[in-house]
Amino acid sequence: MDFDSDGPSEFELDRAEMRRMAERVVEALVERHAAVGEQPAWRCASRSEMRERLPPGEPPREGESFDDIVDHLEEHVLEYAGRIDHPRFFAFVPSSPTWPAILGDVLATGYNVFAGTWLESAGPSAVELDVLGWFREWIGYPGEAAGLLTSGGSAANLTALSCARLHRYGAHDPRAVIYVSEHTHSSIERAARILGFAGDRIRTVPVDADFRMDCDALEAVIARDRGADLDPFLIVETAGTTNTGAVDPLGELAAIARRDDLWLHADAAYGGFAVLCERGRTALAGLEEADSITLDPHKWLYQPYEAGCLLVREGARLERAFHIMPDYLQDTAVPSEAVPDNAEVNFADRGLQLTRAARALKIWLSVRYYGTAAFGRQIERSIELAERAEDHIVGNPKLELVSPARLGIICFRRRVEGAGGEAENRLLVRELCDSGLGMISSTRIRGRYALRFCLLNHRIRWEDVERILVWLSERPTN
Ligand SMILES: *Cc1c(COP(=O)(O)O)cnc(C)c1O
Repeated sequence: MDFDSDGPSEFELDRAEMRRMAERVVEALVERHAAVGEQPAWRCASRSEMRERLPPGEPPREGESFDDIVDHLEEHVLEYAGRIDHPRFFAFVPSSPTWPAILGDVLATGYNVFAGTWLESAGPSAVELDVLGWFREWIGYPGEAAGLLTSGGSAANLTALSCARLHRYGAHDPRAVIYVSEHTHSSIERAARILGFAGDRIRTVPVDADFRMDCDALEAVIARDRGADLDPFLIVETAGTTNTGAVDPLGELAAIARRDDLWLHADAAYGGFAVLCERGRTALAGLEEADSITLDPHKWLYQPYEAGCLLVREGARLERAFHIMPDYLQDTAVPSEAVPDNAEVNFADRGLQLTRAARALKIWLSVRYYGTAAFGRQIERSIELAERAEDHIVGNPKLELVSPARLGIICFRRRVEGAGGEAENRLLVRELCDSGLGMISSTRIRGRYALRFCLLNHRIRWEDVERILVWLSERPTN
């Protein structure tokens, strides 16, 4: 091979070519966003169908045309995915990022910011501190609270559990017990497994008639564990469960945690940003009493993936848990400041990632562009759409309400003569997805199969919700 170490890099492109390539991508993205409602909500393909479209093989030895590759991506790859931001995508937890937020991510990627240390990203780190300060205010956390942006809620929950354990024990204590409810998100159990908690050190507390953690049952199991020489360590309360949108009794749980000296972690990944509207703020009263809180800006703050967040009430605990300074990073050490408010921050010292993207830019840009009032109105609209869906379901003899509208989520089922109706409801989900008209998903509530709507997308209008409800009630089931 003959290397040319004097000439330009083979990867460099001239401005005109860069611009031309970028325009091809921008055109695809604008079309994707402007016309999303006219496309099917979901398209899937089997593994063998995908193999036909993308025959396995070596990458080409010599480069190919950019436009051809992007055409290929559009036709054979990007087409085969859920359009999660489609106005009739109600499945799982949807995400409908705003255009300014997407452009914020483009900027962060294009500048390739290294947001792990202050030395390498004073500007973007200051923006992250700003964004975390907004979240702190919205939640009602005190000035000493601190946090970081993460890849998502799962990473934030893992970081919270790890920080809490380091704070309490310094290492792992096999007697430590974690308390969750039947409706706690699976990422908590996964975090506990990663951290080395045995399965029998996670207690699942039952829920009351409204799907909220039963505080009497919790107190009983904590007392029993103490009696058995175990160490009750941490309670996970959920502020908006993924299943039904239920909010655990936050104030009561805070009182129990305080009295029994447990760390209280609030998983508000789903519902936390509802504090931006009046009704959400009421529903989430007491959230600010938790020792740590997980939020997910890529859910109800309309950010593109990935964007999660952890806030810790006594913020200094985060860096006490995770700060490490190896020799090869000694140039990044920040001066220890007398005034904590003025200290520079190495976000790498607050969690898992050293190399991190500047996730704060998209949040900063989009929140500034629209203003918090617009976010509050959009969130409130989701809450109201779910309530309107509830009214429709209650008034529709072919449908049965399973759990009431809470924070934009509602569960119900199609009434079926005779048997339980699980097979028929399952088929409805399948047929709706295949039709491309919309996408919904299902869950189990008290063991019974239920259809579930999660109405977070900012594009949803009532006519979209009504259309799917009517489809589900009119569709023949045999
Ligand atoms: C979505 C969700 C999570 C997990 O968050 P990811 O961003 O998907 O990692 C955790 N908890 C709750 C309540 C959630 O709804």
